[in-house]
Amino acid sequence: MGIDSILNRLEKVRRTGPGKWTACCPAHDDKCPSLGIKQADDDKILIHCFGGCDVQSIVSAIGLTLSDLMPEKPQGYDRTRARGSRFSKSEMFDRLLHESIILGLGIRQLLSGKELSPADIESIGKAESLIDELRIEASR
Ligand SMILES: [Zn+2]
Repeated sequence: MGIDSILNRLEKVRRTGPGKWTACCPAHDDKCPSLGIKQADDDKILIHCFGGCDVQSIVSAIGLTLSDLMPEKPQGYDRTRARGSRFSKSEMFDRLLHESIILGLGIRQLLSGKELSPADIESIGKAESLIDELRIEASR
Protein backbone atom coordinates (compact mmCIF):
# COMPACT_ATOMS: atom_id res chain seq x y z
CA MET A 1 0.00 0.00 0.00
CA GLY A 2 1.48 3.30 -1.03
CA ILE A 3 1.27 6.40 1.13
CA ASP A 4 -1.09 8.02 -1.42
CA SER A 5 -3.78 5.39 -1.05
CA ILE A 6 -3.71 5.94 2.70
CA LEU A 7 -3.82 9.73 2.42
CA ASN A 8 -6.73 9.42 -0.04
CA ARG A 9 -8.82 7.78 2.67
CA LEU A 10 -8.27 10.56 5.19
CA GLU A 11 -9.96 13.96 5.59
CA LYS A 12 -8.24 17.37 5.55
CA VAL A 13 -4.86 16.00 4.58
CA ARG A 14 -2.15 18.62 4.71
CA ARG A 15 1.51 18.14 3.91
CA THR A 16 3.65 19.60 6.69
CA GLY A 17 7.09 18.63 5.42
CA PRO A 18 8.98 16.05 3.38
CA GLY A 19 7.28 12.72 4.05
CA LYS A 20 5.04 14.26 6.71
CA TRP A 21 1.31 14.99 6.75
CA THR A 22 -1.48 15.83 9.15
CA ALA A 23 -5.10 14.78 8.76
CA CYS A 24 -8.30 14.30 10.71
CA CYS A 25 -8.25 11.13 12.74
CA PRO A 26 -10.82 8.67 11.38
CA ALA A 27 -11.04 6.79 14.67
CA HIS A 28 -12.50 9.57 16.80
CA ASP A 29 -14.66 12.66 16.27
CA ASP A 30 -11.78 14.86 15.18
CA LYS A 31 -12.42 18.60 14.79
CA CYS A 32 -8.86 19.75 14.21
CA PRO A 33 -6.47 17.49 12.37
CA SER A 34 -4.83 15.57 15.18
CA LEU A 35 -3.43 12.74 13.13
CA GLY A 36 0.23 12.76 12.22
CA ILE A 37 1.38 10.64 9.29
CA LYS A 38 5.00 10.09 8.53
CA GLN A 39 6.76 8.06 5.91
CA ALA A 40 9.86 6.54 7.47
CA ASP A 41 13.13 6.02 5.61
CA ASP A 42 12.38 2.34 5.09
CA ASP A 43 9.00 3.29 3.49
CA LYS A 44 7.13 2.11 6.54
CA ILE A 45 4.21 4.43 7.29
CA LEU A 46 3.92 5.74 10.83
CA ILE A 47 0.60 7.05 12.11
CA HIS A 48 0.04 8.81 15.39
CA CYS A 49 -3.15 10.28 16.82
CA PHE A 50 -2.61 13.07 19.32
CA GLY A 51 -6.07 12.29 20.67
CA GLY A 52 -4.72 8.97 21.85
CA CYS A 53 -6.29 6.52 19.39
CA ASP A 54 -4.26 3.40 18.80
CA VAL A 55 -2.95 2.68 15.33
CA GLN A 56 -5.03 -0.46 15.01
CA SER A 57 -8.33 1.43 15.37
CA ILE A 58 -7.14 4.20 13.05
CA VAL A 59 -6.31 1.84 10.18
CA SER A 60 -9.46 -0.22 10.66
CA ALA A 61 -11.54 3.00 10.60
CA ILE A 62 -10.36 3.56 7.02
CA GLY A 63 -10.72 -0.10 6.07
CA LEU A 64 -7.06 -1.02 6.26
CA THR A 65 -4.93 -3.31 8.38
CA LEU A 66 -1.59 -2.76 10.06
CA SER A 67 0.19 -4.66 7.29
CA ASP A 68 -0.95 -1.96 4.84
CA LEU A 69 1.44 0.38 6.64
CA MET A 70 4.38 -1.85 5.80
CA PRO A 71 6.36 -1.22 2.63
CA GLU A 72 5.45 -3.35 -0.34
CA LYS A 73 7.88 -6.16 -0.85
CA PRO A 74 9.16 -7.49 -4.15
CA GLN A 75 7.85 -10.83 -5.33
CA GLY A 76 9.25 -13.87 -3.60
CA TYR A 77 9.17 -12.11 -0.27
CA ASP A 78 8.55 -14.65 2.44
CA ARG A 79 5.11 -13.93 3.86
CA THR A 80 5.71 -15.85 7.08
CA ARG A 81 7.84 -12.94 8.23
CA ALA A 82 5.08 -10.43 7.55
CA ARG A 83 2.97 -12.07 10.23
CA GLY A 84 5.60 -11.16 12.80
CA SER A 85 7.21 -14.55 12.76
CA ARG A 86 10.79 -14.74 14.03
CA PHE A 87 11.88 -17.13 11.34
CA SER A 88 10.97 -17.70 7.73
CA LYS A 89 9.88 -21.22 6.80
CA SER A 90 13.25 -22.12 5.27
CA GLU A 91 15.09 -20.70 8.30
CA MET A 92 12.88 -22.75 10.59
CA PHE A 93 13.68 -25.85 8.60
CA ASP A 94 17.43 -25.15 8.72
CA ARG A 95 17.35 -24.56 12.47
CA LEU A 96 15.30 -27.69 13.01
CA LEU A 97 17.73 -29.73 10.96
CA HIS A 98 20.70 -28.30 12.83
CA GLU A 99 19.19 -28.93 16.26
CA SER A 100 18.12 -32.46 15.39
CA ILE A 101 21.70 -33.25 14.33
CA ILE A 102 22.88 -32.10 17.77
CA LEU A 103 20.28 -34.30 19.45
CA GLY A 104 21.26 -37.21 17.20
CA LEU A 105 24.93 -36.85 18.11
CA GLY A 106 24.04 -36.82 21.79
CA ILE A 107 21.95 -39.97 21.47
CA ARG A 108 24.67 -41.75 19.50
CA GLN A 109 27.19 -40.88 22.20
CA LEU A 110 24.92 -42.28 24.91
CA LEU A 111 24.26 -45.43 22.89
CA SER A 112 27.97 -46.06 22.53
CA GLY A 113 28.26 -45.93 26.32
CA LYS A 114 30.03 -42.57 26.52
CA GLU A 115 29.02 -39.91 28.99
CA LEU A 116 27.88 -36.52 27.81
CA SER A 117 30.12 -33.60 28.71
CA PRO A 118 28.52 -30.57 30.44
CA ALA A 119 28.90 -28.70 27.13
CA ASP A 120 27.06 -31.49 25.30
CA ILE A 121 24.26 -31.45 27.85
CA GLU A 122 24.01 -27.69 27.49
CA SER A 123 23.74 -27.76 23.72
CA ILE A 124 21.18 -30.56 23.89
CA GLY A 125 19.13 -28.47 26.34
CA LYS A 126 19.35 -25.52 23.96
CA ALA A 127 18.36 -27.71 21.02
CA GLU A 128 15.32 -28.94 22.92
CA SER A 129 14.10 -25.46 23.79
CA LEU A 130 14.72 -24.20 20.26
CA ILE A 131 12.77 -27.09 18.76
CA ASP A 132 9.97 -26.30 21.17
CA GLU A 133 10.11 -22.63 20.15
CA LEU A 134 9.94 -23.63 16.47
CA ARG A 135 7.00 -25.91 17.21
CA ILE A 136 5.09 -22.97 18.76
CA GLU A 137 6.13 -20.71 15.88
CA ALA A 138 4.97 -23.26 13.29
CA SER A 139 1.58 -23.69 14.92
CA ARG A 140 0.74 -19.98 14.86
ZN1 LIG B 1 -7.90 9.79 17.06
